[in-house]
Amino acid sequence: MKVLFVVWEVDPFFKLGGLGDIARSLPGALINSGVDIRVITPYYKVEKMGRNKKQKIATFSFLYARRKQKVEIWETLHPFTKVPCYFLKNKKYLDKATLTETWGFFDKAVIEILKRNLLNWEPEILHLNDRHCGLIPLLVKAEKLPVKTMMTIHNLAYQGKSPISILTDMGIDHSIVKITKWEIKSHQVNFLMEGIIHSDIVTVVSPTYSKEILTEEFGQGLNEILVGMEGRIFGILNGIDIDWRYNKLDHSVKFPYNLSEKIVDGRKYLNWKDGKKLNKHFLQKKLGLKIDENIPVLCFIGRFDARQKGLDIMHTMLRRNADNMKYQIVILGSGDKDWEERYMWFSTFYPKYISCNLKFDESLAHQIYAGSDFILVPSLYEPCGLIQMIAMLFGTVPIAHDTGGLSDSIKDNFNGFLFEKYSSEALEKTVNKALDLWRNDKERFNKIVENALISDFTWNKSAKEYISLYEKLLS
Ligand code: ADP
Repeated sequence: MKVLFVVWEVDPFFKLGGLGDIARSLPGALINSGVDIRVITPYYKVEKMGRNKKQKIATFSFLYARRKQKVEIWETLHPFTKVPCYFLKNKKYLDKATLTETWGFFDKAVIEILKRNLLNWEPEILHLNDRHCGLIPLLVKAEKLPVKTMMTIHNLAYQGKSPISILTDMGIDHSIVKITKWEIKSHQVNFLMEGIIHSDIVTVVSPTYSKEILTEEFGQGLNEILVGMEGRIFGILNGIDIDWRYNKLDHSVKFPYNLSEKIVDGRKYLNWKDGKKLNKHFLQKKLGLKIDENIPVLCFIGRFDARQKGLDIMHTMLRRNADNMKYQIVILGSGDKDWEERYMWFSTFYPKYISCNLKFDESLAHQIYAGSDFILVPSLYEPCGLIQMIAMLFGTVPIAHDTGGLSDSIKDNFNGFLFEKYSSEALEKTVNKALDLWRNDKERFNKIVENALISDFTWNKSAKEYISLYEKLLS
């Protein structure tokens, strides 16, 4: 089974969020299950190639926006998973990850590669990820390429609405693309919608989210289209790669630990209670918080996305609690500038209790996972969410909104806490309940930590589900 995994970011080369993690770990799990999978992605200027051996395997040109554009294909093996990765280099369109008009270029380049068999390997399935690859299924149809398409939506909110002129730049004849006819009226093309409509199969990243997106509330304007496709939409929960933890993640963590003490590759892992205590002390000291093991430490790690990540209800709760803090909170994230400013204000006035770190810093992220007692995931919606799973790997207990992949990965009062209503009051009530357990019923709290530590978020089950969908596509 030959699968080309097409994606816009791949950790550790380049990562903006969870998608980068998935592009590392899912192909890794699939190759281990015998799938001949390869990854293709743009070669940005900021790509961290490290000491990876890479080689240029082809150079080709095609017309884009009426000009001839040259593209180089570079190949390397992924440093952790050994999955072959192809990087597409073009100065004008693929140097920067931020330019939306470049997606069309990337999509067209992938199609040209397939048409000319430049990889010397012909995939049977294109596994496409998010809006960046949205026009590929339509081009596959237009070019009548003998390949099946699966589109995985990691977040329906990001649809990639772009000026319709991009179709002309790509050389797409409007008349062969039925669906764009009504879009032409708004002079926009919706990349994700095109991807959904023209793919053979659509998947989203958790079973609960696959049902939520069929509703007006979560459908982001595409719910009617998605309802019309019922039967072709599947929800598969993302996983995380545990082995990677021993490679990379724990090297930022000062005192690695596990459920119980053990030696892995000559490195000593403490039991979780000792490890948590030492890492918490380290974190409090590093961030200038009051050093006290009897103060519970909460954390938040994520993009500052005002419409998704629950910044509003968390902020309202902190406003209420700030003058009489019974916990400390460490925040790591960046994005929306207004919210960054509002959170920074807390840090300035309550430096011993609230630490805001407005940046992308993976080492610090792992030190925070390791040194905190709880992680807050107050997202309004969450297609899957990885932070709660990574946190549980560290025995850091999630307190999360009962939605999407959070509902599928957290069992209330078992390995975390869930609140139903999206409000600062519901969040605060659940935080208080969790803190009460932490302070007054260590035995029950420790059981929750241990349940979190042994929760199975490996890719084993989900990789099998992807493979059976691949088989379905080919049958
Ligand atoms: P999303 O995909 O919506 O960004 P996820 O929970 O699926 O959210 O994944 C977020 C990933 O990005 C996790 O690996 C998390 O540790 C990482 N991350 C998010 N924000 C930061 C940050 N500011 N610094 C370092 N890592 C971050």
